[in-house]
Amino acid sequence: MTHPCLSCGACCVSFRVDFAVQERSDHGGCVPAGLAVEVTASISRMRGTDHRAPRCAALTGVVGEHVACGIYEWRPSPCREFAAGSDACERARLRRGLGPYPG
Ligand code: SF4
Ligand code: SF4
Repeated sequence: MTHPCLSCGACCVSFRVDFAVQERSDHGGCVPAGLAVEVTASISRMRGTDHRAPRCAALTGVVGEHVACGIYEWRPSPCREFAAGSDACERARLRRGLGPYPG
């Protein structure tokens, strides 16, 4: 069975994803700079996550069907720390009309 996140993606179209500028590739980190926008001198944000209908620019596929993070190995710390099955995960799934986390 594939991981439940690969048929979800709700969190990647729900929350602003902010992280320290040092995580960006042009500041010595791993997150591709082209997929980030500057918020302040010290904070960056994943492109698309502050749109009216948020969708992280790194997300591929169709939410609720099949998705993938295009920069999985290089994703920023908030994404690494986001826990499947957490309250925030459940809220994101609910908003997208997906059922409770099946894990
Ligand atoms: S909302 Fe939860 S189940 Fe869906 S992709 Fe994010 S962590 Fe995974
Ligand atoms: S970087 Fe990847 S895991 Fe993080 S919000 Fe974007 S698509 Fe989702």
